[in-house]
Amino acid sequence: MRIVIVGAGQAAVQLAASLRQEGHEGEIVLLGDEPGLPYQRPPLSKAYMKEGDADRLILKPQSFFEKNRIERRESLRVKEIDRAGRQVTSETGETIAYDHLVLATGARNARPPIEGADHESVVELRTLAHAADIRDRLARSRRAVIVGGGFIGLEFAAMAEAAGVATTVVEAGPRLMARAVSPAISERFKAFHRAAGTEVLLDAPAARILAPTGSAADRVVLADGSEIMGDLVMVATGVKPNVELAEAAGLAVLNGITVDESLSTGDETISAIGDCASVPGPLGIHLRLESVQAATDQARHLARRLVTGCRETYQAVPWFWSDQGSLKLQIAGLSQGADHFHSLGEETVDTVFGFRAGTLVSVETVNQPGQHMAARKLLAGETPISREAIEAAGFDLRALAK
Ligand code: FAD
Repeated sequence: MRIVIVGAGQAAVQLAASLRQEGHEGEIVLLGDEPGLPYQRPPLSKAYMKEGDADRLILKPQSFFEKNRIERRESLRVKEIDRAGRQVTSETGETIAYDHLVLATGARNARPPIEGADHESVVELRTLAHAADIRDRLARSRRAVIVGGGFIGLEFAAMAEAAGVATTVVEAGPRLMARAVSPAISERFKAFHRAAGTEVLLDAPAARILAPTGSAADRVVLADGSEIMGDLVMVATGVKPNVELAEAAGLAVLNGITVDESLSTGDETISAIGDCASVPGPLGIHLRLESVQAATDQARHLARRLVTGCRETYQAVPWFWSDQGSLKLQIAGLSQGADHFHSLGEETVDTVFGFRAGTLVSVETVNQPGQHMAARKLLAGETPISREAIEAAGFDLRALAK
């Protein structure tokens, strides 16, 4: 069986590796539109900004692909899927046949409807090319403005501030990282960034970005008319899944390429994984998770299905991390489904338990790796963990997970 994977990022490389580990003997073809060896994105807003070492980002060396007989094509963008003919066509007109096609096309940054956000001096961060450009400009900048108080904007803010660049984060909503974390964690990180010197403005939607020609600085104009100058302006307001290929081929798409519990699209010869895939979640609704965990666990799950033919339900515990300065935030489970939160730590919250109907659904920790690992173990277990059981264990998940 010839398996063709569109995209050559985190999910695609894991899938290729897992297919060989599971014993797939047929051809594996990896088609990626970026140049160079596949790389990890998380360090782009973290270590890479400091060290600038691109070699450390590489997911696997070229020898890995050769040894495992994985045909890797770079700078090749797939333009079309011909489902009846079981082949894809590249932008240059090359056709590549498949027996099974996997869409691992990831996501791209969403450009918000802010006038001037598409000006060429305004930067975004998604690829190694973006990161290299930003790193270069950061070294020449004195003031940075980041539009968007999510994970990537805040990770970058911590790096910029530490590099001696006066940094402002403008967030349209009332709190930081609101889509993914509890209010107590938003507060903790707001206090941390402010203490580090970063100006954090909440309820402060950017209305326009002005980039006057001949001026070194851009200006971010807020809805209330105030202006913030920055010689580096970054827009970090979330991502959009790359679904256009699937949509044009008539596959179901709704905030991601819709797949069933075994990660198959409505066409049994096409699957989707990673940031581009919308997967049945714990509450019976489809979810699209943008994380290394989702990309790699889905890839491993799909590899098993493609090799063994066994259709099991994909149900991994979601987990995520974000490094912001000296703080490591780790999240196990999904706090969005919680109806009650319980925080530990006095002035500086370091653990937040999320409960739904009295049962543990998420644990957010700050610099508490032991609690995080225990939370993943407990959430993966068959038995629901009640609030009473956590209280009885003195809120120490490590004791409960033994
Ligand atoms: P990607 O890794 O994005 O790979 C998709 C690839 O497909 C891309 O190279 C894309 O160009 C290519 N492609 C798209 N369309 C086509 C086409 N038509 N033809 C050919 N190729 C195509 N996650 C965490 O869990 N923790 C973190 O701390 C964290 N930090 C992050 C920091 C940054 C700056 C970024 C950008 C992401 C971060 N993430 C983090 C998210 C994580 O990197 C992604 O969830 C993960 O990369 C998803 O893997 P993927 O394979 O689905 O997509």
